[in-house]
Amino acid sequence: MSSLELNHHQIQAFYTPNRFPLKPNPYLALPIGAVTPAGWLREQLVRMRNGLTGHLDVVYKEVLGDRNGWLGGDGDVWERAPYWLDGLVPLAYILNDGELKDKAQNWIEWTLQSQDYTGYFGPRAPDVEPEAEEGLQRGNAGDWWPRMVMLKVLQQYFNATGDVRVLDHMLRYFRYQLNTLPEKPLDHWSWWGKQRGGDNLAMVYWLYNLKGDFFLLELAELIHKQTYNWTDDFLNTKKVSEFYSFHCVNIAQGLKEPAIYFQRHQDRKYIEAIKKGLKDLEVYHGQPNGLFGGDELLHGTNPVHGSELCTAVELMFSLENIAAITGDMEFLDHLERIAFNALPAQSNEDYTARQYYQQTNQVLISRDERNFVTSHGHTDLCFGVLTGYPCCTANMHQGWPKFVQSLWLATADDGLAALVYSSSKVEARVSSGTLVRFTEKTNYPFEDTVRFTFNSAECVTFPFHLRIPLWCENARVAVNGEIWTGEAQNNILVINRLWTDGDVVVLQLPMKVISKRWHEGAVAVERGPLVFSLKIEENWKKVDNTDKHGPFHEVYAGTPWNYGLSDRDLSRLSGTAEVETGTLAYDYPWSLKNAPLQIKIKGKRLPAWKLYNHSAGPVPYSTQQNVEDAPEEELTLVPYGCTKLRITEFPLVR
Ligand SMILES: [Zn+2]
Repeated sequence: MSSLELNHHQIQAFYTPNRFPLKPNPYLALPIGAVTPAGWLREQLVRMRNGLTGHLDVVYKEVLGDRNGWLGGDGDVWERAPYWLDGLVPLAYILNDGELKDKAQNWIEWTLQSQDYTGYFGPRAPDVEPEAEEGLQRGNAGDWWPRMVMLKVLQQYFNATGDVRVLDHMLRYFRYQLNTLPEKPLDHWSWWGKQRGGDNLAMVYWLYNLKGDFFLLELAELIHKQTYNWTDDFLNTKKVSEFYSFHCVNIAQGLKEPAIYFQRHQDRKYIEAIKKGLKDLEVYHGQPNGLFGGDELLHGTNPVHGSELCTAVELMFSLENIAAITGDMEFLDHLERIAFNALPAQSNEDYTARQYYQQTNQVLISRDERNFVTSHGHTDLCFGVLTGYPCCTANMHQGWPKFVQSLWLATADDGLAALVYSSSKVEARVSSGTLVRFTEKTNYPFEDTVRFTFNSAECVTFPFHLRIPLWCENARVAVNGEIWTGEAQNNILVINRLWTDGDVVVLQLPMKVISKRWHEGAVAVERGPLVFSLKIEENWKKVDNTDKHGPFHEVYAGTPWNYGLSDRDLSRLSGTAEVETGTLAYDYPWSLKNAPLQIKIKGKRLPAWKLYNHSAGPVPYSTQQNVEDAPEEELTLVPYGCTKLRITEFPLVR
């Protein structure tokens, strides 16, 4: 256990709860490095290191090479370097990888040293705005928005290293913000800062908890006032229900702002606003994978409308923040739905390419026109580095490392919480400072059992919190083989007892196969946090494209996709768990070949359901199908996250 012997100063800093007058939060982040992923989640991170995350400065050299403004160069000065570091820094410290740490440190050092006497830091705007250069963002060097991302980078770097230079740096910058925002508000340079001010606000409160300077509370009020009023829009307008009303990434980020501000003003309207915002997103734009139609503007529930990769990772980060502040587990159910379905589906297996948009019903990945609000040379679905728009290429990296940090949290009652499940190990302080370890072993979400083994040099009493997902009806917990009879409150089971080295907790979360109705009554099949899609043979084709979108891969269907599900067979499946489980004897489950689960279900082909504008045409309306004469076929469904081509929202057939 000596590997994680933290000194007393660090402990004080890392577990700092909210400072008065901020309300105490039920859950607190652990330092980066306290949670070590295992199993497929570790393999996912290794693939990131070996793929784009570890090599973006080489692969995307024109933007993230030496010319970048965040290294003092005359190139790109805006969000892309901070975006990349927002994932690279936690990845480097979670994997404890010296090479990645060194790579990140260059940028951290330049950033810290760039600060001037006013507190301003980062690239500096020249007297005359530089000329536009294809593929680079050279303007608006002084913008608040990219600094909001860099603050998140510095916060994580501090949480991993305890480098106190970060605290002074941020304190000086926040004085600069307090002095400058009245004359240059959050949208002075671009509208993004005003829409995304919640990220800035979160960092101000974080520093206030560590330093206690009252001017930070004054700055927080100013930032909240200048930030777009998400609370009012969610509660009192119909904007979320409308098409084109919001940018998909802004709303994913904006959802956290009311919760961040709730820490200072405990009015329930802020939390109600988030719940209503999320509910309306689901009703008017929702997709079974936890995301919503937004390509890039909100675009309804149609399963061939796109969802941007930035939306997935930003909504995950918002949900992680909201859950720690509210202790409300429905947000973590939602987090798992995105992480275990949408996220793995939108990058390729070796993490060398990603899609800009993904579709819920995605039957052809090619450079062709589609019904998206915003298109980029028709490359938005293609797997590449520069297909669609490059923001996601830089921003995608935060998704998995922050998910690792969300697996385990410290609790306000000096215990530990496992709220999101994946194989991992955690080392943390409980009670009055006893260092303990839990080892978590599971193939969740592909299996329903999670095993925890406790290790500690001394016996210690503390509460261990477990999340019981809202979809789970008969959760069971055993401690050292004996059923734990405590009741879950608000979907959290607390095991408060004297813990002894070698104790074992087994959590069982029985999963039922269920179906839900989506766009125009189309049906999606789910089991626990997983959504299932039709297995379609994927034929990959490399395209040596030479324009600004670079080379990419297209994917063509080798087997038919135009099936409806048998109403009768779906009723038979529902409630049972007739799921074929593979061996899980491999490291990486997120591919068609390795899909650990499959569901067999009867269906019929619908010959009239064809491609329209290079996507699956409108879903045939469920109650109108009359294909009794067509032969029934046995279909195979696999987890959504294992697919690149898929039908997820099916018509029903009799
Ligand atoms: Zn993006």
